[in-house]
Amino acid sequence: MSGVDILTSLTAAMASGTIKVVDLTQPLEPKTPVLQLPPEYVQNPPFELHNLSEYDERGPAWYWNWFKCGEHTGTHFDAPIHFVTGKDYENNATDTIPVEKFIGPACVLDAVAEVEKDPDFLITIEFVEEWEKQNGRIPAGAWVLFRSGWSKRLDPEEFQNMKEDGAHTPGWHPDVIPFLAEQRDVLGAGVETVGTDAGQAFGFDPAFPCHVLMHGANKFGLASLTNLDQLPATGAIVIAPPLKIVRGSGSPLRVLALVP
Ligand code: MN
Repeated sequence: MSGVDILTSLTAAMASGTIKVVDLTQPLEPKTPVLQLPPEYVQNPPFELHNLSEYDERGPAWYWNWFKCGEHTGTHFDAPIHFVTGKDYENNATDTIPVEKFIGPACVLDAVAEVEKDPDFLITIEFVEEWEKQNGRIPAGAWVLFRSGWSKRLDPEEFQNMKEDGAHTPGWHPDVIPFLAEQRDVLGAGVETVGTDAGQAFGFDPAFPCHVLMHGANKFGLASLTNLDQLPATGAIVIAPPLKIVRGSGSPLRVLALVP
């Protein structure tokens, strides 16, 4: 099949609804939850939207705003340069990552039942191997998405799930990150939680393994995804290009999935 035929078939399938476009993005607004770090570190400010004019004396026929937010706010992309372990790779920032790497097949790991029982649930190598027995081997260049059901927690306090000893939210076991990055050569890992690491990951060895090891392998992260329950385990394609911020460590973005 030629490239023209493939794209013609694709647009026809999208027009007829044979292929759906699913939005994996959370709304971006002042109440959008942001990651809370221990108090000794600088915090990510909440999203702010400021009105420039709205069909008024400041601009009689137009409405527009300016906004302020951290790069890692709401549904967002983590680039390798975000962590010290990924800082020396070439083309490791939002403006220099080759654009082909923003698009890949999705492998959706469903652990909703496990997370319901244990908010600190971690995906292990054994969990992935069991998934692969059902769904086939994770192909190189895939987005691996952790469907935890966490995006259903609409109350910000329930979403953060902060206790006296820190946040209790699901994530990845330290051992599974090298497995995914090196043995499966994924594009990166996506999650429904506020960051790609588990809430208790500050105490893991290494601390924040998805950041330290995934970016250390020149791979990416996607945080605060939603609607993963509308994706099949395999067969969807995820499109996740961050803003082209020069030397950006990440950015809010719109994440779309093409779903058969
Ligand atoms: Mn981030």
